[in-house]
Amino acid sequence: MNAEIIAVGTELLLGEILNTNAQFLSQNLSNLGIDVYFQTVVGDNPKRLKETFETALTRADIIILTGGLGPTKDDLTKETVAQTMGLTLELHTESLQKIKVFFSSIHREMTINNEKQAYLPKGCMALENHHGTAPGCLIEHQQKVVVMLPGPPQEMKPMFTKYVYPYLRSKGTNIIYSRVLRIFGVGESALEEMLSDIMENQHNPTIAPYAKQGEVALRITAKCESEETAKKMIAPLEKTIRQRLGFNVYGEGNTPLAEVVGSLLKEKGKTVAVAESCTGGLLSEQITRSPGISKCFITGAITYSNESKIKLLNVSPQTLDKYGAVSEQTALEMAEGVKRLGGTDIGISITGIAGPDGGTQEKPVGCIYIGVVTNDKSTCKKINLVGDRLKIRNMTAMHALDMIRHLIVEHVSEKK
Ligand code: ATP
Ligand code: MG
Repeated sequence: MNAEIIAVGTELLLGEILNTNAQFLSQNLSNLGIDVYFQTVVGDNPKRLKETFETALTRADIIILTGGLGPTKDDLTKETVAQTMGLTLELHTESLQKIKVFFSSIHREMTINNEKQAYLPKGCMALENHHGTAPGCLIEHQQKVVVMLPGPPQEMKPMFTKYVYPYLRSKGTNIIYSRVLRIFGVGESALEEMLSDIMENQHNPTIAPYAKQGEVALRITAKCESEETAKKMIAPLEKTIRQRLGFNVYGEGNTPLAEVVGSLLKEKGKTVAVAESCTGGLLSEQITRSPGISKCFITGAITYSNESKIKLLNVSPQTLDKYGAVSEQTALEMAEGVKRLGGTDIGISITGIAGPDGGTQEKPVGCIYIGVVTNDKSTCKKINLVGDRLKIRNMTAMHALDMIRHLIVEHVSEKK
């Protein structure tokens, strides 16, 4: 089965509003295993709407229209669709009753044009609107399914979820179910290479990597009759992928790295103190996104100048003189200093050149040092990033979060 979505509304064509209805419907249809081949947008113009709808009838099994069900003159979807399909509009008394009740509940007189909303194509299934006045409708006609939904997303979404989704689910045989693995430390092309044999022979489930800012998400998708079967189909493939990528898989679904690290800190009861230079507090901000992190995040210092590194963190002026502020030695002394200041298990520091100016041949823009100090060991990682200032700062914070993740997980596995 394939579907076409037609969004009706001149304001969409004018760029005044974004077609979020199409996004929502496409996501849901994809979950149902229904292919969407076309999304179209047409203004509140009966002639062009008719043409668009006629074209959709020639190429789609299911046509979902949104918008133009309201009471005003420019709301013409039902009239145009019914006329094109050769159906008359009939008063749906239940809907009219609901509209009347709605108006009396808000203590307003119902204007006569509101009655228009209660006229529905003959033989359709009326879809009740629990969040507004205009009912939607579903028509089964000559092997086609035509659905009309109101334009306002707060009305359209619940109506689709409550009535249309279960209807389509009962018609279809397949669903699409996906799991997303989130990966840090391997680029998209390296990832493809590591999984090339799987990617070349994939059929069902399929895998697809896509790059997000600073990380890669890998979507594993199965198409089958139930979620339960899909999970069973995905599990062995996921296991193989996790074995290959090992530690680089940091999480799944929509959970960002910062949240994973926050949870790990809380779970293992580790405390952390952060000293930042070029990221200006970004790492602290990311760690403190986790609710309940106050037991773990003890302090953060933004030490931009050399003086503040000396005063607040006890970095030695000689180290700064000899190696510079952007150096392994300074990073380690910053991490030690902030660890002491916070009395924590972990001290972490960031010093680097976020650009666009300030780079040298030896230490170009994007040259970053991240120091990590615990009671047992001190490590410093040098990374070279490319991109603008915003990207370099964001990526640096992600690398630092990932170092904390490694530290906690490795430490726990060492102890086992
Ligand atoms: P109403 O009874 O409110 O007139 P309607 O079904 O006639 O509803 P429209 O008049 O086409 O729908 O749109 C009403 C509002 O719904 C728009 O102003 C816009 O805010 C929102 N809307 C319409 N279509 C979309 C869409 N495709 N994506 C997101 N929002 C939309
Ligand atoms: Mg309208």
